[in-house]
Amino acid sequence: MNDTDRIKKPESTIPVQTLRRIPYYHQILSDLEQKGERFVSSKYLAHFFRVDDTQVRKDVSVIGYKGKPKSGYSVSGLKQAIGDFLGINTENTAILIGAGKLGSALVEYPGLNEYGLKTVAVFDKDPKKLDRKIGAFTVQPLEKLAEIVQSFDVGIAIITVPKEAAQAICDLVVKQNIKAIWNFAPTQLSAPADVTIRNENMAVGLALLSHYLKKRTAESAIFS
Ligand code: ATP
Repeated sequence: MNDTDRIKKPESTIPVQTLRRIPYYHQILSDLEQKGERFVSSKYLAHFFRVDDTQVRKDVSVIGYKGKPKSGYSVSGLKQAIGDFLGINTENTAILIGAGKLGSALVEYPGLNEYGLKTVAVFDKDPKKLDRKIGAFTVQPLEKLAEIVQSFDVGIAIITVPKEAAQAICDLVVKQNIKAIWNFAPTQLSAPADVTIRNENMAVGLALLSHYLKKRTAESAIFS
């Protein structure tokens, strides 16, 4: 593993694969909690990821949870610890820019709330969309951005505008001192180093899936 595979933390380094698994642990633990389960073994958690239980125990120690793996981890205790680690036990305030089909679906999706994401406003530049309702929100013009970001202390901007408009919107939110951007536009955005951008590029996901499918079809043609 080289340095680029690790996220630097002051006291240690965290492997990226561990970081990727952590939100999934949270999901699994939520499901178990809903089923009324109180304890979970590292072996049970391991079987979701093609890793062994030792790896799960390592991941849990990265989170800083001091459970007793022999008798099983407390489902609620570990879930709470992961939530604290990810910062989703405290509410994050978000705005969404681009009230099209994808933006509207995201705003109306209740699952984001479960991860501590609270959308406070929706913006668009199309005059036909302004004053329309999406879920509980009235679509606002971009001129209102600064005022709303300040009054709600917004931490995250969700970008769902077309790719041609995305960089300008990114620059606009960076100017408002927003430090986290969740970008759904299929383009790479650039921002200062203290701004974290998470790209949800569906085209890339689909291209990878399509590539694997093509490979499998070619292999089965060879072996059949
Ligand atoms: P619809 O057909 O309802 O417009 P869509 O999802 O097909 O939906 P897109 O072209 O993907 O529309 O655009 C997404 C949204 O982003 C639209 O509501 C559009 O008005 C908005 N938008 C485009 N450019 C900007 C911009 N510069 N600033 C803010 N919003 C923008």
